[in-house]
Amino acid sequence: MDAGAVSFQRRKTRQISVGDVPVGGDAPITVQSMTITKTADVEGTLQQIYSLAAAGADIVRCTCNTTEAAEGLARIVPRSPVPIVADIHHQYRRALEALEAGVDCLRLNPGNIRKPEHIKAVASEAKDRNVPIRIGVNGGSLDPDMYEKYGGKVTPEAMVESAQREIAYFEEVDFDLIKISVKASNVPLMIEAYRQLSEVTDHPLHLGVTEAGPPPGGILKATAGIATLLAEGIGDTIRYSLTSDPVDEARMGRMLLEAYGLRERKNVDLIACPSCGRAEIDVYKVAQDAQAAFADKQIPLQVAVMGCVVNGPGEARDADIGIAAGNKRGHLFVRGTNVAVVPEDEMVPTLVEWAEFIKSEGIEAAMARAESTREEARRAAEEDRQRNLNEKGDDANDSEQMVELLRSSRDS
Ligand code: SF4
Repeated sequence: MDAGAVSFQRRKTRQISVGDVPVGGDAPITVQSMTITKTADVEGTLQQIYSLAAAGADIVRCTCNTTEAAEGLARIVPRSPVPIVADIHHQYRRALEALEAGVDCLRLNPGNIRKPEHIKAVASEAKDRNVPIRIGVNGGSLDPDMYEKYGGKVTPEAMVESAQREIAYFEEVDFDLIKISVKASNVPLMIEAYRQLSEVTDHPLHLGVTEAGPPPGGILKATAGIATLLAEGIGDTIRYSLTSDPVDEARMGRMLLEAYGLRERKNVDLIACPSCGRAEIDVYKVAQDAQAAFADKQIPLQVAVMGCVVNGPGEARDADIGIAAGNKRGHLFVRGTNVAVVPEDEMVPTLVEWAEFIKSEGIEAAMARAESTREEARRAAEEDRQRNLNEKGDDANDSEQMVELLRSSRDS
């Protein structure tokens, strides 16, 4: 199957704009993250916003919990490279101040701002300024009356009903620049809440597993929730809520969308074999070195690190570029064609150098570059391939030998 032809059927939603970033409709799915600085610390917050944007965040949220934070936002917004969302907790006055400060979006948690007249006051001010609002229903801070109505439990139905009630407040003042989230830290609960919500509204949805925790568990939970929904066509913007450097959140969000083919590749997609008895290098180490070497380079290629030249080039033939180990040498290949041979300790720098060459000159130019070395590279790869097969046999993991051993111990 042509993997490039596979795509998810996306549910239709309305489109809103967060600053100059469209969300919903046929707009690309966006990545969000949140600063962890004090928003009143303008320089520190801006520095983090720039790091988040560089790591793949399209939209960044900052807390607006004090008047000083709102003043900080007034200074941050004009200098930010991405649209800014103000996170409002309990005080609706902070929302009004954030709007005054010029933010591109508000995030309200209706479970925290209880009075309908306050919610409506914020909505009508946002309407005058054409600023969208995210209604952020959260399993952990559900309206107490909803909680009671649903038997003292947070259920998907309770979360959806809470969101619908808030939407109704906004509709009363004729405000429809809304996106909605129904996050929970429980993954199945969150998935079901979003599924149900997507049946009853066409407002764009912001996906997330709240309080997912530190990596790797947090990444796993967030991915399980977000990826499941995206595969069902649900979701217009996403956030990984990790107990980690927020740059990781932006990176993970971006990586997920790239892996799903929902965003154009911006960074290297590093693939590597899992290693086995045939490996001629420490695949984990070389893959980690390659990951570190490519970390800050924006090279939109798939790059492979393979432990042996017997199966490596074939298994990674779809990669743009890759390297396979054999007899203390690295066999470099471009789209499955051997192009060069280098000493083992030059494998990673060679990969990086050729990847940068392909990024700037293209695959055809890389092939042309290899014109004089290609034949020799092919011969060397074949030589090392045969050598590996002779030494390790067809069954490098010795499974037949193991079976023999098991049989003889059973028979004795
Ligand atoms: S056969 Fe070679 S490429 Fe495949 S897992 Fe083993 S070492 Fe890696």
